[in-house]
Amino acid sequence: MKFLVDWPLGGLAKWLRFCGFDATLMRLAPDKPGSWPPPRPRTHILTRQAACRRLKRPDLLVLAAAEPEGQLTEVVKRLGLSARDFKPLSRCRHCNDPLAPLSRDLVQGRVAEYVFLQQRRFFECPRCHRIYWPGSHLQGITGTLRDQLDKLGDRDADPPE
Ligand SMILES: [Zn+2]
Repeated sequence: MKFLVDWPLGGLAKWLRFCGFDATLMRLAPDKPGSWPPPRPRTHILTRQAACRRLKRPDLLVLAAAEPEGQLTEVVKRLGLSARDFKPLSRCRHCNDPLAPLSRDLVQGRVAEYVFLQQRRFFECPRCHRIYWPGSHLQGITGTLRDQLDKLGDRDADPPE
């Protein structure tokens, strides 16, 4: 699933990428519908601009929540997303690029020592070379959404028995 996210909602775009969704920021002008991309399958446009409603695009979600966490919850509810739609640790939150597994040998010295000692699986963004590990995507959020993502992260982090 792909999201085109209105420019001011950069925080939401980061959370969507954390969840593994392809999220691209773009400037949406309600008074210039000609500048909007054509509707595409499995692609949703996200904005908070109420004026966009009059464009009556079926692929458009006008969100109400002011904070990224609430916006993400809104997207999850309105699109009926479930755990199987989420793929944590698959995409860089900053670049939107798919992450690649990174050998643990190559991580030492590049993350805090306690992280290196605690974690077994690491991933790297091929563009910005940020390193991710299970749980790294949960920093900075709280509440229900964290609980939901935490469960997904744990499931993703445990090796098969
Ligand atoms: Zn990156």
